[in-house]
Amino acid sequence: MAHLADYNTKNQHQATVKKTERLTPADTEEVREIVLEVKQPGFDCHVDQSFGVLVKTSGEFGKTVHHRLYSVADLPAKENGNPLITMLVKRCSYVDEFNGELYKGIASNYLCDRKVGDEITITGPFDLPFAVPEDKNSNLILIGMGTGIAPFRAFVKHIYNNVKDWKGKIRLFYGARSGLELLYLNDKNGDLTNYYDEETFKAFHALSPRPQWSDPIALDAAIEARAAEIIELLSHANTHVYVAGYEKIREMLDKAFSNILGSKEKWETRKAELVAGKKWAEVIY
Ligand SMILES: Cc1cc2nc3c(=O)[nH]c(=O)nc-3n(C[C@H](O)[C@H](O)[C@H](O)COP(=O)(O)OP(=O)(O)OC[C@H]3O[C@@H](n4cnc5c(N)ncnc54)[C@H](O)[C@@H]3O)c2cc1C
Repeated sequence: MAHLADYNTKNQHQATVKKTERLTPADTEEVREIVLEVKQPGFDCHVDQSFGVLVKTSGEFGKTVHHRLYSVADLPAKENGNPLITMLVKRCSYVDEFNGELYKGIASNYLCDRKVGDEITITGPFDLPFAVPEDKNSNLILIGMGTGIAPFRAFVKHIYNNVKDWKGKIRLFYGARSGLELLYLNDKNGDLTNYYDEETFKAFHALSPRPQWSDPIALDAAIEARAAEIIELLSHANTHVYVAGYEKIREMLDKAFSNILGSKEKWETRKAELVAGKKWAEVIY
């Protein structure tokens, strides 16, 4: 994937916060669903895209601009003729390795602190590698960790609402640090649960074994528990694997798929085939 510095920030648009809702309870990591109205009717942002957010900061060398990307998390909509885009944002903070101080992520805290009516500057849109395959018989294994569920939420809705007659199997694996973060999926609004009746769709939740602890999310266990079906799906040439989420997901998946296929070498070979056939796509941050 391209380096952040390679993204063009010249294409700037003003957007107003129409809605900001915390999806996670107060005692867990904060994830908000934020809906923006873009004050430019021609701004065309699709489900397989992201957009940037620009934040002015006062750095060591004077004023500077901080640019971060966010995935489109819902089907595009319109209000007053203007596009509405939805994002899921996790409020990030990091502990500085050297001085132990807590460092607040700039863009995520800026976004989570915005109120309805506030104006922000966005950039883009930028393509994500998660295109809908032309062949409706294609199988899709979608794996999202944390806010990595955002693009797949939009993607699955798009397939069943707009593409229609999907014949391939869609298997969505998603994990979050605490069980309560599963509200990412907006289950309370019906959202992805609308598609549970679709013959082709199945979603599997993975939880942290001890939600209050910083244990790893058992996404690997959820995947390994469905080993037989995954082996079967991976044996077809028309199976695509799409992955999104934090850096940790890479190692976790390599381990899980190696276990499923019987060895690291077998997985490396199969993954190389998927990559070469443009059937593996990832957004890892
Ligand atoms: C294509 C793409 C799509 C994305 N989609 C989403 C999405 O849908 N939702 C979402 O929430 N996020 C998403 N992200 C991640 C998002 O872009 C940001 O990276 C995230 O919100 C953190 O940005 P920030 O400005 O808050 O943190 P930053 O201010 O950029 O800080 C984060 C980084 O700075 C480091 N750091 C800097 N200084 C220090 C210090 N003193 N001590 C310790 N660490 C330090 C941290 O280790 C960390 O790596 C996506 C990323 C990409 C590339």
